[in-house]
Amino acid sequence: MYLKNVMNKNTWKVKHRKTCAVCGKLITSKRFRTYCSNTCRNKRNNTKYAKHRSKLQTARYDALASIPSKEKKQCKICGRWYVQVGTHVVQRHGMTAREYREKFNLPLKKGIVPKWYKEFKGKQALDNKTCKNLKQGKKFRYKKGDKRAKKSTGWKSRRYKPDQYYG
Ligand SMILES: [Zn+2]
Ligand SMILES: [Zn+2]
Repeated sequence: MYLKNVMNKNTWKVKHRKTCAVCGKLITSKRFRTYCSNTCRNKRNNTKYAKHRSKLQTARYDALASIPSKEKKQCKICGRWYVQVGTHVVQRHGMTAREYREKFNLPLKKGIVPKWYKEFKGKQALDNKTCKNLKQGKKFRYKKGDKRAKKSTGWKSRRYKPDQYYG
């Protein structure tokens, strides 16, 4: 399919140019007919087939992610398997990780990552001392019932019965 497009009669005509199609310099070498050098030819080809390449790449990633794995979590929208479903959801389904959790009634405060990854990240935080940042952020955290806190929806709201609070 791809080769057919390239070999198409219209695109197969090679113009004998005097100047480079990319940088405009005179073409001195006989080896080149459209571009002055390999650098310029690569430049043009990189931009020309960028879309096609990214399509191929996503197809490859999708094929990989279609294989069920115990070391990954399944996306509830497309059914593919990822280590970080939250990141995948943002990139592929255009919703935030929080929106995803609310939609599928998942715990809001838990990440959608497999256990090994969680442990790995925890160990990493201890190793490079980023866990100390938690102390710095303490003053920004509210306790339950604080007026500054937003109302939660989704997982928490399953237990939330309006009558109970507003009679
Ligand atoms: Zn050039
Ligand atoms: Zn998905």
